[in-house]
Amino acid sequence: MATYTIRKIGDPVLNRPTEEITDIDGRIAKLADDMLETMYDEPGVGLAANQVGISKRLFVYDVGYGPVTVVNPRIVESDGEWVYEEGCLSIPGLLFELVRPNAVHLVGYDLDGNEISIEADELEGRALQHEMDHLEGTLFIERLDDDQRKAAKKALREMNLSATVEAEPRRSTASAGGLRLP
Ligand code: ZN
Repeated sequence: MATYTIRKIGDPVLNRPTEEITDIDGRIAKLADDMLETMYDEPGVGLAANQVGISKRLFVYDVGYGPVTVVNPRIVESDGEWVYEEGCLSIPGLLFELVRPNAVHLVGYDLDGNEISIEADELEGRALQHEMDHLEGTLFIERLDDDQRKAAKKALREMNLSATVEAEPRRSTASAGGLRLP
């Protein structure tokens, strides 16, 4: 196993939708292994392939129940609302409260090519949505509301990270706490 360098905001690979995986072979299994090692090293609870510079439709995560790899994932249903303070390994140091659906139903494939179906809410549901966004080329700060976006831009300028932080405004509520998401 080996670790990758995590790509940071401003790297164009993070803004491009990833490609479907057509062959789930040994190289994909090795990629997933190395991504998991990279994720545990940080530490983070999830990592998408384009965060290590590989524009393929695959992510790994572990919210405390062991490692899971999902190939060609798709969210087929989402429900409810949940506020959570989200962060990202590709945007070090920034945490913002974000409202997203609470529960999601995600389908995809495991490393043996078998179909998998995951229904999850709260932290696991949030991790799945955050990683799905990555695979579509979307960073969580694009989902911030106007005030949060201003704060994010300022913080990124201070860190000398240039990036566009654009998206439709979303509602958000303020409170403290929360685990860091990848
Ligand atoms: Zn992330």
